[in-house]
Amino acid sequence: MTKVAVVGSQFGIHFFRPKALPEKGETVMAQSYNSEIAAKGLDTAVGCHRLGVPTAYCGCVGEDEFGKRTFEFMDDENMTTKYVVVDKNSFTGVGTCIIEDGGQNYVIVARGANDAISKEDIDKFEREGLFDEIEYMGTGLEINLETMAYAVKRAHAHGVKVLLDPAPVAEFDESIYPCLEFIKPNETEASALTGIDVTNEQSAIQAARWFLAKGVKHVIVTLGANGVVFVDDTHEQYIPSFKVKAVDASGAGDTFGGAFLAGMAKGYDIADAIVFANVAAGISVTKVGCIESMPRLDEVEQFIK
Ligand code: ADP
Repeated sequence: MTKVAVVGSQFGIHFFRPKALPEKGETVMAQSYNSEIAAKGLDTAVGCHRLGVPTAYCGCVGEDEFGKRTFEFMDDENMTTKYVVVDKNSFTGVGTCIIEDGGQNYVIVARGANDAISKEDIDKFEREGLFDEIEYMGTGLEINLETMAYAVKRAHAHGVKVLLDPAPVAEFDESIYPCLEFIKPNETEASALTGIDVTNEQSAIQAARWFLAKGVKHVIVTLGANGVVFVDDTHEQYIPSFKVKAVDASGAGDTFGGAFLAGMAKGYDIADAIVFANVAAGISVTKVGCIESMPRLDEVEQFIK
């Protein structure tokens, strides 16, 4: 039975690797090219599902190649595609990432179908029983923000515990704060949303208290390799990250979010779910890529042994 859902984004990204960027008006050849599907929403859902908790990704794609690949990928991962909407008038969120020799990258994205997901889609998911099935819902700021806020409120009305990953930073309807069981900003997001310059444990605690005052129940501020701060009415706790040889931190936050939801759905207490998430995210940064680097349950169990 599906215990977790993530209402969030999905993109197809084209990666071009030229020696150098083109000058104005110039065309250059890429030395290599590939394309991948991935985005904060789908990644978080996959991160949770791979850890043994059946997870529904709920989002919107276009009727195009990247949309097709999204369904194929989810089938391969044995994930339900029941809550993936195909919008015939839109295109799957798409991006171009240019990576110069030396690793500097330049990214442009267009949100496409991520903007098209609507309140009517959430109502349809509700009629189909989504909020009766699940205990936890994750969401983020890479989709239509009115729909995101609506989904949070509907989930909350059903007693579903909601985690907001406030990324990428954007202004959203603050009336959702009291409907959030968890918020999980990184340093940059916590700083932008609270106006407090988050650089260390103390400032992270201060920012966490800002979110609590807004009505969020439990706040988790991630500080990359420098650990996690967890604050609520009865906790003010620092939880260290694992020491690993990091090669690529892309997708670390999504892996953390997915694994945290998985831990909660398995019945862990919050601090233990954070440790579980630190392990999964720690493993993911030792590998290149986003979705490819997300560990499966056996890898996490192996690491903990
Ligand atoms: P985001 O990816 O959203 O920017 P962070 O950089 O805070 O978020 O990373 C999220 C989580 O990934 C951290 O809380 C930690 O568990 C893990 N992580 C990230 N970087 C490292 C690292 N260098 N070593 C160990 N764990 C890491």
